[in-house]
Amino acid sequence: MRAVLSVVLPLVLLVLVSATPTQHYALQGAKVVRVVPHTLGQLNHLHQLLMQGSYDFWKEPRALGSPVDIMVTLPAQEQLMASLESHSLKVQERLSDVGKVIAEQEAERGQRGAKAMDWADYHNYETITAWMASLAAQHPDLCSMEQVGTSYEGRPMYLLTISKGGTDKPGIFIDGDIHAREWISPAVVTYMVNQLLTGSHDDLLSSVVFYVMPVINPDGYSYTFTDDRLWRKTRSHTDSVFGCMGADPNRNWDFHWNEVGASSNPCSETYAGPHPFSEVEMQVVRDQITRLGNLKVYLTFHSFSQLWMYPWGFTTDLPSDWKDLDDLAQDAVKALTAIHGTHYEIGSSTNTIYAAAGGSDDWAKGVGGVKYAYTVELRDQGNYGFLLPRSQIIPTGEETFEALKVVGSFVKNTYGK
Ligand SMILES: [Zn+2]
Repeated sequence: MRAVLSVVLPLVLLVLVSATPTQHYALQGAKVVRVVPHTLGQLNHLHQLLMQGSYDFWKEPRALGSPVDIMVTLPAQEQLMASLESHSLKVQERLSDVGKVIAEQEAERGQRGAKAMDWADYHNYETITAWMASLAAQHPDLCSMEQVGTSYEGRPMYLLTISKGGTDKPGIFIDGDIHAREWISPAVVTYMVNQLLTGSHDDLLSSVVFYVMPVINPDGYSYTFTDDRLWRKTRSHTDSVFGCMGADPNRNWDFHWNEVGASSNPCSETYAGPHPFSEVEMQVVRDQITRLGNLKVYLTFHSFSQLWMYPWGFTTDLPSDWKDLDDLAQDAVKALTAIHGTHYEIGSSTNTIYAAAGGSDDWAKGVGGVKYAYTVELRDQGNYGFLLPRSQIIPTGEETFEALKVVGSFVKNTYGK
């Protein structure tokens, strides 16, 4: 009996602790705290906490000197603080009440009651897709929309093709919201689509074709509007006896899948899924990247941290052509920073200790053959994290679009006819 209890009890505790942070009602009084590891011992301890899956890491341990943000619910705070203090990690509070910030932002959205697409606030999946359809109707010479798949829960998934005079051109593939709670991602991706179509970019659109999927985790995204603002994963059913749902779609790609930095525990925020490409939404995106061909750039937008990263994620080794990727990233970030002074780090595996396999950018480069594959972590650096205020959507869109224009011009000049 004792043996059984010692197996069962930790499992029960694990689910109690790991299930609570994702429940909306339990976020009242939840904090986000920051610690900075300065020794390998501290870094390893944080990595163990991450892999154990009891806390929601808003910013995962990467390297020495790189901050780590952890969300902790009220009942778990004492335990976490003791654990951090036992490794002499100094705790800095970033958000004192996550539930309160979410409630305030929800109330604001309710008051505005806006149904039509704009960039004054965040919008749900239906509003975004209705807007995408309207673009194709308004700019038939520049833009088309096609349904390329269906999500696990049955939501249609659409691809926008943006170009002038056919698609026989070098391509840039852009996706957003692979992680459901990273709302600034689809907001910025749609902002940039709007700029491409309403600004004077005929020159660029004549030489380059943009393929865009603003929300590639539509079930998760919808769930963040209806049930849990901080949901990250997909919404597929798993074989978890605790009822934990979803896989981390950015650990699900079939390139060194689940080798490192991912979990086999369905209750973990970084659950890689039961097998590579188990998540239908990722199959849909994979099939587009494979089908389109002639893609020179893959850009996937996440938040937060202000990082412009390139492969590899699965290893600390660099691709042989890393200098090419680094050069373009430097130019893009320079243009981005020039707009509002926002500081970005050009991330590569060189300054990372903990790798994470199964990411979409690694697959795009390693299997999809897209040379310039980047993961961009948008604003901010942790003041609000995933709860970035709506007032920052337009400034974030403005600066990121400058970076995209640099990337577009590079493709035009390097590969255009
Ligand atoms: Zn993400």
